[in-house]
Amino acid sequence: MFHHKKTIANGDLVLVYIGRDNLKPIFIKEGEVLQTRYGVFPHDSMIGKPFGSQITSTKNVGYIYLLRPTPELWTVSLPHRTQIVYTPDSSYIVQRMNVVGGSRVIEAGTGSGSFTHAFSRTVGPQGRVFSYEFHEQRYEQAKQEFESHQLENTTLTHRDVCNDGFSIDAPVDAQMVFLDLPSPWEAITHLPEVIAKDQTVEICCFSPCIEQVVKTVEALQQYGWTGIELTEVQAKQWEARKEMVRELDDAIERLRDVKKRQKEGLDLKKLPPKRDANGEEKDRGYNPFGKGRRIQEGEDGFSWQNVSKTGPELKTHTSYLLFARQTPTLGAKV
Ligand code: SAM
Repeated sequence: MFHHKKTIANGDLVLVYIGRDNLKPIFIKEGEVLQTRYGVFPHDSMIGKPFGSQITSTKNVGYIYLLRPTPELWTVSLPHRTQIVYTPDSSYIVQRMNVVGGSRVIEAGTGSGSFTHAFSRTVGPQGRVFSYEFHEQRYEQAKQEFESHQLENTTLTHRDVCNDGFSIDAPVDAQMVFLDLPSPWEAITHLPEVIAKDQTVEICCFSPCIEQVVKTVEALQQYGWTGIELTEVQAKQWEARKEMVRELDDAIERLRDVKKRQKEGLDLKKLPPKRDANGEEKDRGYNPFGKGRRIQEGEDGFSWQNVSKTGPELKTHTSYLLFARQTPTLGAKV
């Protein structure tokens, strides 16, 4: 998944942008077609195109974009099997725990594998992700996905970590631990066997309820984790734009205009737009509020002020992020 290929080849995973909130993952297969509400797109027409290209349907009625897969795009296009960690949280957690190329990370549970992809890309070929999932079907689906996406640095284990811990045949020596489980405090008891002994280890527990947080804090303290901090990521989109300044004189003139049109029995809105010789829409004259003609934001001839407001809510699943660390000198108190 994390290649930097320029052009699309047979067998590649492509994330097809069909529309806002509609991103579809497909594997390119010669002879196959992608059916969408905007038309039919043969896979053959995608082969050889650079990632990022826009292509039109066979009947030239619609278009799609062919995007190179990234963990961020995968998160918004993956088939959901569970609640997932979205990019506003995963990006914060990755930087806060200082996960970098070469890091060794434990993740439980795997769920839909959203965060696994972000971890896998970040730790790179020199690092390792140890992911655990106890639900058999989810484990099987994740295994199949990780194989087809070639997450070669990721070891997926079918395991109940709360009962059976994290040990596997190979050394784990994790430097970072991420727990997205209903009862992380039961898993924390098993961590001493698998975390790095000679360096600071960072942990993040992702829990939606404060009752879970309280129990987790108790377990962290019991097992010698320090620097415990609780964070919540509230991602908001801010929109900055220009808003037309509407003066009282404009309002009066507009009312006069409406009255005049009422008097004359003319409904300008019902008339087809006036066009010039090039087919461009022509100004109907006085128009301080943008009715009848589309006024471009910031257009000359009007007065504008800069405003900002919050945009639509970002897709995310709000949970408490509980961070702590264990240093080799402090060790476990148990
Ligand atoms: N972080 C994941 C993602 O971004 O896609 C989502 C994780 S999902 C909310 C929690 C997962 O933990 C579920 O798939 C569940 O089956 C698994 N799970 C719960 N308890 C577990 C345990 N004791 N051992 C292993 N997996 C467990």
